Amino acid sequence: MARIEYAPAPESRSVVHLRPSYGLFIDGEFVEPTLGEHYTSVNPADETALAEVSEGSAADVDLAVRAARRAFTRWSRMPGAERAKYLYRIARILQERAREFAVLETLDNGKPIKESRDTDIPLAAAWFFHYAGWADKLEYAGLGPDPRPLGVAGQVIPWNFPMLMLAWKVAPALAGGNTVVLKPAQTTPLTALLFAEVCQQADLPAGVVNIVTGHNDTGAAVVAHKGVDKIAFTGSTAVGRRIAEAVAGTHKRVTLELGGKGANIVFADAAIDQAVEGVVHGIYFNQGHVCCAGSRLLVQESIAEEFVARLKRRMGTLRVGDPLDKNTDVGAINSSMQLARISELADSGVAEGATMWQADCALPSRGFWFAPTLFTDVAQSHRIAREEIFGPVLSTLTFRTPSEAIEKANNTQYGLAAGIWTEKGSLILKMANELRAGVVWANTYNKFDPASPFGGYKESGYGREGGRQGLAAYLEGDRA
Ligand code: NAP
Ligand code: MG
Repeated sequence: MARIEYAPAPESRSVVHLRPSYGLFIDGEFVEPTLGEHYTSVNPADETALAEVSEGSAADVDLAVRAARRAFTRWSRMPGAERAKYLYRIARILQERAREFAVLETLDNGKPIKESRDTDIPLAAAWFFHYAGWADKLEYAGLGPDPRPLGVAGQVIPWNFPMLMLAWKVAPALAGGNTVVLKPAQTTPLTALLFAEVCQQADLPAGVVNIVTGHNDTGAAVVAHKGVDKIAFTGSTAVGRRIAEAVAGTHKRVTLELGGKGANIVFADAAIDQAVEGVVHGIYFNQGHVCCAGSRLLVQESIAEEFVARLKRRMGTLRVGDPLDKNTDVGAINSSMQLARISELADSGVAEGATMWQADCALPSRGFWFAPTLFTDVAQSHRIAREEIFGPVLSTLTFRTPSEAIEKANNTQYGLAAGIWTEKGSLILKMANELRAGVVWANTYNKFDPASPFGGYKESGYGREGGRQGLAAYLEGDRA
């Protein structure tokens, strides 16, 4: 298929006003880190420096937790309807400043502007709207007539959806009357710092939200702090395990949203072109940096050849390049470290005998890039079929019967998400019942809604975010 050429359509970055250097956001103010250390956040699309960001130490985390504890007294006693006003105000400001947030997210993360503009930021605002609506209705959360907040929540988030993960964590915590100390990922701190400005703009009482940037030691300090009552973590299974060990035997409640290896299952009767679109979206959305990515394609044997041919044709039309260009489908890999991990796993696929195919696309010479990649001739024992790649790499397996599809889909340490493509409703219900995955999409993929709980089975973690269940994770009541 001939590739249609488009003229460049870059989104302007003039809407973003970066400061040369950022402090930590503690007790309603930007303050310098106690040790005076900073690091540089870079744009992964061209490796240019964006801003200097503070390295938070254990002493800074302590100041943040103390501020959150002081704020908790007033915030938790405030009537829910009053707390809701702040959350609505934050949601509206996020909408008003949506373009600024989207451009900044794309600069700091490398994801296409199309996605930050149409998915990340609108959903972040939607999460605040949703939980604003809960703040005065906590007695309907299913936890008895008078659920109480847990206290200070320590929240540690990854780099793949920086602002959206912040919203998933902060909105339900605040609605329930908790206060927070949040540690953004080291490579993507800038939208969290812009959110700190939004908290000031919304007149949120000082100390209700504290943002401590830094590396993994900063995250570990949040987790270890005795004054934290709840830990909410999204990230890798390896770090999740360490966190579970660190809090074992303490009073702290924990929710863990970890890795995944989602199966996207295509039956022979599926609407093929729709399924191709869904499979492409399932793995190449956000460069595959998605915990619930459909990174394993399970396609029924009778249509496998034709499906793979159509998939390759569609992959050939994906536009890879400048994340700020409005026509870009696939942006930059978030860091050199992540690029190295993706490359190493793709190499292992070739070494173990799978066949690798890559879309023919010119990659920019600077920055971190990986072409959309498809593996066929994959065995279940291959690393690319078992390990989370967290990149734009799809591994294809085939099956003959629904029970074989279920067995293969469930043959993983993870259990976060799965997709089913068939015209047959009874087959959808059977599959959805038997798949061990927290979310199962039918004839669609990667759909998110603040009212819908999200979370994993097995080594994908425990606890749910979103909806009433996500609120319950920040409350204690008579029926917890
Ligand atoms: P990661 O290495 O686990 O890091 C996640 C966060 O934890 C970062 O802020 C990180 O800081 C911090 N951290 C690292 N070591 C820590 C420690 N010992 N104690 C406390 N905090 C620590 O994961 P990542 O590479 O950023 O993200 C990719 C992973 O996240 C993938 O496996 C993906 O599946 C998972 N993920 C899951 C979901 C979900 O909802 N289930 C959503 C998104 C991503 P640094 O930034 O300094 O490393
Ligand atoms: Mg960055």
